[in-house]
Amino acid sequence: FGSVVAVILVLVALLIMRLARGINAMIASLESYNVNLLAELDERKRVERRLDQLDQLAHFDPVTLLSNRNMFQKKLDLAVELSRQANTTVAVLFVDLDNFKLVNDSYGHHIGDKLLQTAGERLTQSVRAGDMVCRLGGDEFAIILEHVSGGAVVGKIAEKLISNLTKPLRLDGHEVVVSGSIGAALYPDDADSAEALVRFADSAMYAAKGDGKNTWRRFDPVMATQTTRRLTLENQMRRGLEAGHFEVHYQPQVDTASGTADSFEALARWNDPEQGYISPAQFIPVAEESGLIRPLGEWVLRTACRQIMEWSKAAGRPLKVAVNVSARQLVHADFPDCVKAILAETGCPPAQIELEITESLLMQNFDKTRPMLQVLHDYGICIAIDDFGTGYSSMSQLKNIPITKLKIDKRFVDNIETDRDDLTIASAMAGLAHNLDIRVIAEGVENEGQVTLLRQSHCDVFQGYYFSRPLHPDAVPEFLARKVNTPLLASEVRLPAVNKDTNIDIAERDLSPVPG
Ligand code: C2E
Ligand code: MG
Ligand code: MG
Repeated sequence: FGSVVAVILVLVALLIMRLARGINAMIASLESYNVNLLAELDERKRVERRLDQLDQLAHFDPVTLLSNRNMFQKKLDLAVELSRQANTTVAVLFVDLDNFKLVNDSYGHHIGDKLLQTAGERLTQSVRAGDMVCRLGGDEFAIILEHVSGGAVVGKIAEKLISNLTKPLRLDGHEVVVSGSIGAALYPDDADSAEALVRFADSAMYAAKGDGKNTWRRFDPVMATQTTRRLTLENQMRRGLEAGHFEVHYQPQVDTASGTADSFEALARWNDPEQGYISPAQFIPVAEESGLIRPLGEWVLRTACRQIMEWSKAAGRPLKVAVNVSARQLVHADFPDCVKAILAETGCPPAQIELEITESLLMQNFDKTRPMLQVLHDYGICIAIDDFGTGYSSMSQLKNIPITKLKIDKRFVDNIETDRDDLTIASAMAGLAHNLDIRVIAEGVENEGQVTLLRQSHCDVFQGYYFSRPLHPDAVPEFLARKVNTPLLASEVRLPAVNKDTNIDIAERDLSPVPG
C-alpha cells in the first residue's frame, strides 16, 4: 500500500509540476500577448495621432492656423451646393496683401510670418463667426460668406476688411504698413459654379491691384480676359528678355539755367515683334510681381551706362543718365555692389548716373533703404526721389535722406495753371528742397504756361513732352548735335537763369523757341 501511495504521490507531484509549467507557459504567453497588445495599442494611438496631424496639415495652414486651400475648396463646394438648393447667395472674397513680398524680403521670414498671422486675425475679426477665412498660400487669403443679401453688403464687408487691414502695425520694433487688394465674386449672380467663383474672385483681385491696390473690386466679365492676358504677358516677357526685344529710350531733361539738355531719363520699352510697343505701365507691374524686374533693371542700368559713355565720348562732354530703380531691386542687400560692378564693367563714372527711387517706395521701407542709399551716395552716385508729392513722406524727412534731386510729380504739374493749391505745393516743395541743397525737376511738362509757372516756383530742371518725348537711342545723337536752331526742342529754348531771391516773372519771349 505504501508503495502504491508513493507512486501516486510521485504521479501527483509530476502532474503538479507539469501543471505549474503549463501555467507558467500560459502566464508567459499571456504576458507576451499583453505586451504585444499594448505595443499594438501604442502603435495604433501613434498612427491615429499622426493621422490627426496629417489631417491638420491637409486642412489647416500651420502659420496662421486658418483653413488651407484644401479645406476652402471642400467648404466652397458645399456652400455652393447648399446655396443652389436653398436659392441663396454665396460670396467669395480673395484678399492679397499688398507689398507682402517687400516686407518678407526686407525683414525676413520671421516678420513675414508674424505679418501673415496678424493679417489672418484681422480678417477673421472683420467677419461673422460663421464665415470662413482661409489662407490659400503665400500672401493670399480667401473668405467665404454664406447667405449674403447681395453685392452691396459684400462691398461693405470688403471696405471693413481693408480698413482693418491697414491699421498701423509694429512687428519686432519695425513699423510695417500693410494693406490689401480684394476681389469679390458672387454665386449665382456672377458665377455658376464654385470653380468659376474662385477664378472670377481672383480676376477681380488683380483688377483691384491694377487700380492702385488697397481697394476692392467686384468681378466684371471684362476682367476674365485681363487675367489671361496678365499670365501670357509674364511668359512673353520672359521670352522677350531672352530674345532681346527690350529697348531703352531716353527722355531729355532740360536745365533752365544753362539751357542745355545734357541729362536723360532711361525708360524701358518692350518692342514685341507681333504686338509692337508695350507700355511700361503694363509690363513693370508684371515684372515686379514675377521677380523679372531684377534682371530687367540690371539690363537697363548696364545699357544706359554703356550708352551714356558712348554719347559722352562723341559729344566731348560728360552726359548724365537717370535710371529708375524698383522696390524689388532695392530690398536686396547686394544692390549697391551690383551697381558698382556695372559701373566698373562699363567704365561709367558714378557722377554720371542718377538712380530714381519713387517716394512711396522710399517711405515704405525707410529703415532698410536709407543706409543703402547712403552707400551709393557716398560712392558718388546721385539719388533722385521720383514722383514726389504722391507718397507719404513729410517734407521734414527730406533732410534725413541722402538725395540730390527731387522730381515733382506730373500730377502737380498737370493742373498748375488752374489749381492754385498745386502751384502753392509745387513752390513749397521747391523752396524746401533748395534750402536743403536738393535740385528740383518738374516732370510731365507739356506746355509753355506750365514752364512759366514752374520757373517762378524755382524748378531747376524740366522733363516733358513740351521739350521732347522719350527718344529712341538712334535719335539721340541727332538731338545732341542739333542742339541749336531746331524749334520746340529743349536745348533751343533760350532760358535765362532764374533769380531765386527776387522771384522775377519770366517774360514770355524768353521762353519761346529760337527760330530755326
Ligand atoms: P517715371 O519714372 O515717372 O517716368 C516718367 C514717365 O512719364 C515716362 O512714362 C514718360 O514717358 C512720361 N512722360 C514724360 N513726359 C511726359 C509728358 O509731358 N506727358 C505725359 N503724359 N507723360 C510724360 P513711361 O516711359 O511710360 O514710364 C512709366 C513708368 O514706368 C515710369 O515712370 C517708371 O516708373 C516706370 N519705368 C519705366 N522704365 C523703367 C525701368 O527701367 N525700371 C523701372 N523700375 N521702372 C521703369
Ligand atoms: Mg522716373
Ligand atoms: Mg516720375
